[in-house]
Amino acid sequence: MGPYLTIVNPVLWEIGHVAWFHEYWTLREAAGRAPLIERCDRLWDSSAVAHATRWHLDLPDRAGTCAYMADVLHRQEHLLARGIDDETRYFYDLSIRHEDMHVEALTYMRQTSSNAPPPDLGMRTRPSAGALPGDVAVPGGRWRLGSTTGEGFIFDNEKWAHETVLAPFRIARAAVTNAEFAAFVEDGGYRTRAFWSDAGWAWREQRGAEQPIYWQGKRDGAWAARRYRTVEELAPHAPVMFVNWFEADAWCRWAERRLPTETEWEAAAIGMPSADGARLTDRRRRWPWDDTGGDGRPTAAHANLDFAFDGPVDVAALPAGDSAFGCRQMIGNVWEWTSSDFLPFVGFAADPYKDYSQPWFGTRKVLRGGCWATSARIARPGYRNFFTPDRNDVFAGFRTCEL
Ligand code: FE
Repeated sequence: MGPYLTIVNPVLWEIGHVAWFHEYWTLREAAGRAPLIERCDRLWDSSAVAHATRWHLDLPDRAGTCAYMADVLHRQEHLLARGIDDETRYFYDLSIRHEDMHVEALTYMRQTSSNAPPPDLGMRTRPSAGALPGDVAVPGGRWRLGSTTGEGFIFDNEKWAHETVLAPFRIARAAVTNAEFAAFVEDGGYRTRAFWSDAGWAWREQRGAEQPIYWQGKRDGAWAARRYRTVEELAPHAPVMFVNWFEADAWCRWAERRLPTETEWEAAAIGMPSADGARLTDRRRRWPWDDTGGDGRPTAAHANLDFAFDGPVDVAALPAGDSAFGCRQMIGNVWEWTSSDFLPFVGFAADPYKDYSQPWFGTRKVLRGGCWATSARIARPGYRNFFTPDRNDVFAGFRTCEL
């Protein structure tokens, strides 16, 4: 949490909730301790407290919330100093990733609430790198969709890798840019029923959407948009962001393109072609750019993750992060909507945090790849994010495939 963030109730709730989650799994579930605050489950258990009522609870004030968080951390450190087994480690791994997700959510709440931008944590200024048009060809073949053991912590919905068959496809080297999306807006895309699904049109009508949510029209020939609490010119070659699945889908119909399936996305990101390029092999990279099987952790030259830059960079930036097929920024920059519904893989079984995936199957769309504000712990190629198709508050854009 940045020092400049105005503390409003949703932010206060989020901070308390993150601390509660750590306490619930690492101190109570794993170590058998009693709750530190008697009424904590009624305040912060997101499975039990309805979203709409969260902000009106009788929450501890800022000092009380921070004291609770510090108390939980202190007790964790005490337990960790004694050493932990693998079973206990799972709960720490889970809790830190849950915190990562809320750090990202707090960052997009800065945008939705017209709050201050994130404080400068050594982030680089977004470079101008331009556009990266065109498609690459990915050959067909067998692809094992999902994650396997040996990849470190993985979520229940990624288990387990299972065989699928892919037809050859062509996918864009880069995500759709602001300039490319503006062409759709200027062509009357938001007023043309034929470009929208039934559900998408219903959303558009209800909201009266005429352009992406933060866009503010053209000034001196250039599109402007609200960025946190100021209005700025949109970078034409940065990926479009804050578009929901319906808007991505409508752009595709207008452009005579389509969204990739999550299987196609994953194969384009970490798949490897045979020597003659005719088919996919069964080899998969740990990261799009990394064929070593070693650590190969993302750096700011590979991926815009972990607040490496102060927002999304142009789509031609970071060529060192290209996949084997030449797709750029598959990891980081913006989340990418896929055409796939969020569904369980074959043999799915819920992990101890039962409400992480299971309640949401069938009602959400899968996004892949992470964004500039995502932790590298989360943004592995196999990570499946999922949001309802109307969500336009997330740092999400999309890339497309040839029809
Ligand atoms: Fe949560």
